[in-house]
Amino acid sequence: MKNRNFDNEYFIQKKDDFVINEGKDRLFKINDNKGYNIIDIYQYNVFNDEKMRKFLPYNAYKRFKEIIKKGEKVDEILADEIAHGVKEWAISRGVTHFAHWFQPMTGLTAEKHESFLNIERDGTPINRFSGKNLIKSEPDASSFPSGGIRSTFEARGYTIWDTSSPMFIMENEKGGTLCIPSIFLSYNGDSLDKKTPLLRSMESLSKSACKILNYFNENPSRVYPVVGIEQEYFLVDKDFYYNREDLVFTGRTLFGKNPPKGQQLEDHYFGSIKERILNFMQEVEFELYKLGIPAKTRHNEVSPAQFEIAPIFEDVNIASDHNQLIMEILKKIAIRNNLIVLLHEKPFKGLNGSGKHNNWSLSDNKGNNLFDPGETPHQNLKFLLFLTSVIVAVYRYNDLLRASISTASNDYRLGGNEAPPSIISIFLGQKLSSIVECLVYSKRFDFTSKDIIDLGISKIPIISKDNTDRNRTSPFAFTGNKFEFRAVGSSQSVATPNFILNAAVSKVLEEFGQKIESKLGKKDIDFTKHIGNGNEFLIEKENIKFNETIMEIIIEGLRESKDILFEGDNYSPEWKEEAKRRKLFVVDNTPDALKAFLYPKNKDLLIKTNVLTEREIDARYNIKMERFIKSVELEAETMIHMIKTKILPVSFKYQKDLFDVIDKLQKLEDFSLILKLKEGDKSVNNKINYEIQFNYFLEYKNLVDNLLYSLEELEKEMDLLKTKENLEEKASICNSKIRNMMDNLRNIVDKLEERTEKDRWPIPTYYDLLYIN
Ligand code: ADP
Ligand code: MG
Repeated sequence: MKNRNFDNEYFIQKKDDFVINEGKDRLFKINDNKGYNIIDIYQYNVFNDEKMRKFLPYNAYKRFKEIIKKGEKVDEILADEIAHGVKEWAISRGVTHFAHWFQPMTGLTAEKHESFLNIERDGTPINRFSGKNLIKSEPDASSFPSGGIRSTFEARGYTIWDTSSPMFIMENEKGGTLCIPSIFLSYNGDSLDKKTPLLRSMESLSKSACKILNYFNENPSRVYPVVGIEQEYFLVDKDFYYNREDLVFTGRTLFGKNPPKGQQLEDHYFGSIKERILNFMQEVEFELYKLGIPAKTRHNEVSPAQFEIAPIFEDVNIASDHNQLIMEILKKIAIRNNLIVLLHEKPFKGLNGSGKHNNWSLSDNKGNNLFDPGETPHQNLKFLLFLTSVIVAVYRYNDLLRASISTASNDYRLGGNEAPPSIISIFLGQKLSSIVECLVYSKRFDFTSKDIIDLGISKIPIISKDNTDRNRTSPFAFTGNKFEFRAVGSSQSVATPNFILNAAVSKVLEEFGQKIESKLGKKDIDFTKHIGNGNEFLIEKENIKFNETIMEIIIEGLRESKDILFEGDNYSPEWKEEAKRRKLFVVDNTPDALKAFLYPKNKDLLIKTNVLTEREIDARYNIKMERFIKSVELEAETMIHMIKTKILPVSFKYQKDLFDVIDKLQKLEDFSLILKLKEGDKSVNNKINYEIQFNYFLEYKNLVDNLLYSLEELEKEMDLLKTKENLEEKASICNSKIRNMMDNLRNIVDKLEERTEKDRWPIPTYYDLLYIN
């Protein structure tokens, strides 16, 4: 047990016994028997409101709160005060270092640690942390991807404190680091990270959504996209993991025969959680609560050794930071438990892949969900308008959304076993679908009169919350009061899919706002006298025009975008054909999907909503293409290496053993023949039959031959690839040729595995990896 004294606080941690003593007034103990109270530890490591009040001068605290609310900049004087306060808090918690914590375009997080230590002229050591240090840092950024924005001679970019996300302490066994959430920019101010466009998209969406809400006489100060992210992952035993270079280098198994059980029995999903795994999960949650991450659900997933964790939804920028932290904590705690977490989208062929269901909705600053159908006609109309904005947005930008979730690793998952298809479409559920159909085709509503709202001239049905009718096969499903984007990959940052979705919805809402304005004028509408009673609000004569206008916009939008709606089985092959007929974006690989970033209409979207500049878009396209190529190259190289150093040597030996048997059998036959002749036995036909064993040997030998041929082929192709310069050409070689060759090699190796003695097989098998105890 470790025991460290930091002023009047100490923190002791050992695997199954946690003691936290914060000051003198709070003491709690966590162990296997007693558990703990989440509230007691929640945000223990976060510089939250409570700590700001304690560690900042009152005025600084007030001003800072105001600035966060308004999204304004912190000036240097205030920054000095905050820096001092947060340093004092951090030091009281035994922290020695600080780091700007940011999300470069690798999709991971990055941090460069610096200690608080300063040495005075006279040699006295002192802890210092200035406002300047807090606001800005200049990491040596030359090795982060920039997609050509920042050439290496001007390698330095800088990070800027993102005040919208709270500072936190990342604890380690030997100490802690104060992490300052930051954005990452080049010297010219181009965004080099995932966070900046996400924040910009929130800004844009809030503006256009508020404008619409003002017409409904709701005047929120802000609208927030909120997301709840269900994170799926696999756990494997650490010892097995390090014996598989493919898992270590590429995150997935490049070989491996599915064991007979696999997931056919479907008995893992929601099954009882094994003791070892539950201990791991509880340890993870304990760390998450301290970081203020509201972990809510945990369960087994479809495949053996697959699990899920989901926190309660939060503002998308916070949820995105928190998801990054969840991935880090999962990895860290797994290692402590002799486990390794696999975040890859498809670690095991033939088994369920892992995703990240991105539950997205919009909330105003009072916490009202804009996708809650609500109870009054007023809310119904508003609901339908916002619902339509998403349908139109996804319809117009389904290609860009598809691109936003495209990575080499997600390619193996999308459209595969129990995974969302690679075509984006929306599922609404039976009730909403029939409403939409009535609106689009001007059909009569098939509802009883009490379920219909009279809007004056037109009618709409009362929409009640309905989340019973779920279609698990849809990549983008409306689930009662939120949209669940299920095609997002388990290892990716959620920032990109969310900033694309935010931007798309923002643009459509902006357009709706303009339509309302042009149809009704800006100032004509004064609803103030109708606040409070939705029914009256809509039936009032002077509002009929407003209601009609909104209905017109809804119907126009639905008519334009109805082709994105699909209620059927997304896994069926017919859907692919149907989607092509509907002119949806049908691609099955990353390089093709990424092209969507370059379409003028998509560039226009991101530029107009101020989410990205053209340079920033091009940079992202380049980086994504490069990453795709590198990832396939690494897989191919790892495969070649494993075949040469592990698979082939074992196969040769086993082949030799098989051959030895044949050899001996042949000799045996000779012997028996001689013997029989000697004894004057006439039944010479009664010879030793080794043909069937010989065939078995031949089969094995053919596999080894094939392996050698195919290996040579892949190596040649890899050499050729190295001579190419053009990104698109390289990506296309990787996607078609190299991947096919790898598939072929894998099939051969898997057949060899099936025919080789288990104890000799040089790498842990699927059975070893998937049935952890
Ligand atoms: P399921 O597995 O049934 O889809 P989960 O409970 O595992 O559901 O996860 C649902 C996720 O959706 C949680 O993160 C939850 O907080 C989130 N969520 C719930 N309501 C909303 C909402 N209005 N907006 C965004 N996310 C939401
Ligand atoms: Mg879900």
